[in-house]
Parts: sequence; structure tokens; C-alpha cells
Amino acid sequence: MKNSWSAADAAQLYAVDAWSEKLFSVSPEGEVTVSLKNNQGDSVPVSLMEILNGVRERGKAWPVLLRFGEILESRIALLHNTFQAAIADIGYQGKYHGVYPIKVNQQQEALERITRFGRRYHYGLEIGTKAELIAALAYLHDPEAYLICNGYKDAEFIDMALHAQKIGLQVVLVVEMPSEVGLILKRAEILGIQPNIGIRARLRTKSSGHWRETAGDKSVFGLHTAQVMAVVDELKAEGKLDYLKMLHYHQGSQIPDIRSIRDAALEASRIYVELVKEGAPMGLLDLGGGLAIDYDGTHSSGKSSCNYGIEEYCVDLIDVIKRVTDEHDVPHPNLITESGRAIVAHFSVLVFDILDTNSFYPKDDPLPIPENAPPTVKDFYEAWEMLNEDNIQECYNDAMYYRDQLHQAFLHGSVTLRQRSLGEQMFGHLIRRLSQMLDNGESVPEEMSELKSFGVDFYYGNFSIFQSLPDAWAIGQIFPVMPLHRLTEKPTRKAVIADITCDCDGHLDQFMDAHNVRHSLPVHELRDNEDYLMGAFLVGAYQETLGDLHNLIGDTHIVSVELNEQDKIRYVQEVQGDSVGEVLEFVEYDLKQMQKQFREFAETAVNDGRITTAQLRESMQCYVDGIRGYTYFEK
Ligand code: PLP
Repeated sequence: MKNSWSAADAAQLYAVDAWSEKLFSVSPEGEVTVSLKNNQGDSVPVSLMEILNGVRERGKAWPVLLRFGEILESRIALLHNTFQAAIADIGYQGKYHGVYPIKVNQQQEALERITRFGRRYHYGLEIGTKAELIAALAYLHDPEAYLICNGYKDAEFIDMALHAQKIGLQVVLVVEMPSEVGLILKRAEILGIQPNIGIRARLRTKSSGHWRETAGDKSVFGLHTAQVMAVVDELKAEGKLDYLKMLHYHQGSQIPDIRSIRDAALEASRIYVELVKEGAPMGLLDLGGGLAIDYDGTHSSGKSSCNYGIEEYCVDLIDVIKRVTDEHDVPHPNLITESGRAIVAHFSVLVFDILDTNSFYPKDDPLPIPENAPPTVKDFYEAWEMLNEDNIQECYNDAMYYRDQLHQAFLHGSVTLRQRSLGEQMFGHLIRRLSQMLDNGESVPEEMSELKSFGVDFYYGNFSIFQSLPDAWAIGQIFPVMPLHRLTEKPTRKAVIADITCDCDGHLDQFMDAHNVRHSLPVHELRDNEDYLMGAFLVGAYQETLGDLHNLIGDTHIVSVELNEQDKIRYVQEVQGDSVGEVLEFVEYDLKQMQKQFREFAETAVNDGRITTAQLRESMQCYVDGIRGYTYFEK
């Protein structure tokens, strides 16, 4: 069908430019593309559908998580270079050192790639647990990169960090609790190492975004000012104040409002200056994470967005710190940031297929009214027949009234289930026609606002929110979601995307938009025997590790992609998703024992004559195949 809809219209509809940072776009052929760098360093748009065809040929079924390692690298370069440019512009004397907080994406591929590529910028790592420390030490071997050790530390943790310092890393042990100071001094003395100590301060400044209430002086972590001074006094008393090198704070993740970022940097700069005046050598100011990304594309201070870009972030921080330190003639500290989300979010895309749809509107035309239809059902037919441009509101009111009447009649037993179904179908026809008369639901007056919700279908996606987009469920985070193809066709449906968990919370009903968040997503009609593939974007931060096995749905397949020397797609790494058996083993089942128990159960059926021995073998085979299968819907 010829229509005036173009790929550019689709890009606008799904606000692609607003959330994608130019890493994803829509091709003139109507497919979503990812921008990958080739050998010459030029950006080449690569169709996700082309990538997915290769994934299919490799025998992988949907859903699949695509990873683009090169995007990680471009984000590190962007952050580093933007800080460098701001430092040069503002005439700041200190240096910038980025560190990547492992917790944001702990997958081996991410860690390896960040440390390998980051070496040219002396990009370091932030860790908060012993396991993260052990992982970091296998990959971070750059003597000029920082290893920031946050988290509560026991002697084993401190010893390992001190060993790393001895071997040649720039390790900073950050004091999260006053009681840690004594232990750090003790272990350092035993190992004969002079530690670099940092203090994590709990700022009074109000934060913004989702973690607003648990940041600032209500924060679980960090020392309040009396504790900061107690640590300084303890170090002085021990004659070890020269160990104090760094002030650190972390306002929380995804800080949407630049003002609170500036305010926090101001407070931290003042504390920093005071610590220098106390006689500590200092030299490092670690501003933590918080650099937000615009998930919903609104460029606002909403919690899934941000009202600033990376450049403004870098300039504002440096400007504030310079002013305060200049005021007191204190040398400009070297700056560390612990950006995680802004580095890894764009790195992965979840791809899933739509399995089925459920529409409120009936598909077929209304049936002729049966002779014996009860009055409540006939009322709908009458409203349907009399509906015209002049009585839309009246017919809407009637329809809503008759629907309640029908329900009441069913509860009283005066209407059968079949009659009720007939009445409800007729209600659906009536509402659809009303909606069409109101510009396909676009110009629904406030008095008929319920009409809007009838026009929204359920599209069932082959994925689990709890496994792949846990923040959508846990904190109402919006992720950009859109079809990956058919974008030269105007979408004719609106949908809420449900997952396969059958959990009432397992659906997405908030979507990106350039102005306001929308509550349904424009989508296309499904076609017979053709996959309809959707992508959930910006899922590289926090989602993989936070995802859980709700409903025993496991990890998806993972495929990592880059361009080869001929600018062709190269499938760098493939990781098989969890099988049913693996997921069951995670939750302590013994697969052999389970097969034995199922066999015993089936044997009783053979004994009782309910099934034959051949049928027992078939059932056993089915059980074993099920254990080996993917946890997602397989076609
Ligand atoms: N640093 C610390 C101490 C954190 O707890 C976190 C996560 O909240 C981060 C850095 C990463 O923050 P973001 O992902 O907002 O950059």
C-alpha cells in the first residue's frame, strides 16, 4: 500500500534522536541501524535486522541481547575528551581520570573491553566488594590508572588492595565507616605499605531523581562532617595524616537535574578545601557517579531523563571546583568520576519477538442480532444503529451505561455467558466506531477519556521484564522500546507490551516521547508467518546483573557484534542463554533426581495401565528435551 509515511516520520514518532545519542537511527528502508566504527574510524550505519538475520542463521532463537563493544569505547572516549576539553577551556590545572564502577555492568566482556580500550586514557575501575576487587585485578594493569576501593572492608579486602598497590596500581582505600581507619592502618603496617586513604563524605545537598530521598544527609553511605573530622583527628593522632589523599562523594545514580550536580560539587569542594587546610596532602577529588542519560527523550528533570548533556556536566563541575579552590589558593585537585550508566547503557539492546496480540476491539463485523437476545444486548445494537457525527457523546454515555447493565444482569443470572459475550462484542464494535469517528482516538474529549484505553492492545513480547528490564518493574524506569523494522509503514495500532511471565507487573506501559511520556506504543499489525521484532534500548547499565529468575525464566542468548576489516558484520562472541535445566539448578534442583522422580511417577501409570511402555518412553523423552530447552517461547 502506498502511503505518505516515511522512515523519518517513524524516527520522529519514536523520538530516536532524543534518546539515541546518534548511536541508533532509522534507515530510509525503515530499519533501525546502529552506528559502528570501521577500521578507518568512520561511523557506518548497520541494520539491526541484517545483524539479526545472521543471528538466526547461527541457530539462535529470540530473545537475544545484542552487545556492541565499540559503543563502550566511544562512550569512554567521549567522556574523557569532553573533560579534557573543559579543563583546557577553563584553564583548570588538575587532570581528569575516569574510573568505571564495575557494579554497573559486571559482565566479563564489559570489564575486559573497558580496561583494554581505557588504557590509552588511564581509565581505572571502582570496586565495592571483594569479588569486584578480584575481578578488577585480573584486568586492570595500568600503573597510571586508579583503583578506587569503596564498600565495607574486612582485613582480607584491605590486604588484597594493598598488595595491588605494591604490585603497581594507584589504589585508594575509601573510608566508608570511621571504624575502617584503624583496620587500614593496622594492615598497612603489617604489610609495610603506605596506603592512600580517601574519605567518602555524606553531603547535605539535596539530590534529584529516583534516589533523591536516600541521598544527601539521609544517605546510608559516607561520613557526616563530625565523622570526617574524627577521621582527620585519628590520622593526626597516629601521625598518618599524610595518607589522606582523596575526598569522595556519590550523590546517587541518574541525577536528572544539573543544578543538584553543581550544588553537590560546591559542597564537596568546600569540604576538600577544609581538609587541605587541616594539613592533609589530598590531591584527588572523586565526584562519584550520577551522570544521567535521557532514556525517555524528554530532556527534562524527570527521573528517566536529564536536563543536561555530557559537555554541560563536565564544564559545570570543573567551573565550580576551580572557583572554590581558587578562592582559597588551594591547588586544583585531580578529578575522578565514577560514571557507569553513561558509559555502558548504550552498549546492549534486547531484541524480542511479538508472539501474539490481544485487542479489545472485535476483529470481525457485528453479527446480526439474534431473535432471542435479551434487552440489555439489544440496547447495544440500537446504539450502534443510531450512532452518527451528531450524537457521539450520547452514544458513548449509552454504551457505558448498557455495559454496566449487562454486567449486573449477568450477576443476577438473567443473562447467559453466551449472551454476555454477544453484548460485550457489540460494545466493542460500538466503541471502535466511536473511536474512528474521533480521529482514531486522537481527539477524544476529556468526558470520554476512558475511550482511549479501549484502543490500546496488548502485544505479548517474548521476554521477561524481571530478567531483562528489572528497573522497569522495580523503579518505573522507562527504556526506549520500538519496532526494528517496517518503519516505512505507518503504525496503525497502539499497544502496551506484556512479557511472558504472566505476572501482573510483567508489562511496559510507559514509553519514550520527545515531549511527554506516552502510555502506549504505536505498533504495526502482525503479519502471518513473519516475525515482528522489537528492541529495548539502553539496557547495558544495571539490568543484566539485577535481572532475576522470576518464573524461572533465565538469561537470554547474547551476541556481540562489531565490523571487520571489510566493514562487514563480525559476530565476535556468542553466549548461549540459560536452558531450563540450568535455571532449575540455580534454584537447587537436582536434575538427575528430578528425572528419576518423574520416571517413577510415569511407571505408576504403566503399572495401572493408563499408558503403555512406549508412551512412557515418549513422555520421558519430552521431559528430558524440556530440560535442555530455552526458557523462552520457542517456535
Ligand atoms: N559510584 C558509586 C559509589 C556507586 O554506588 C554508583 C552506583 O550507584 C556509581 C558510582 C555509578 O553511578 P552511575 O551509574 O550513575 O554513573
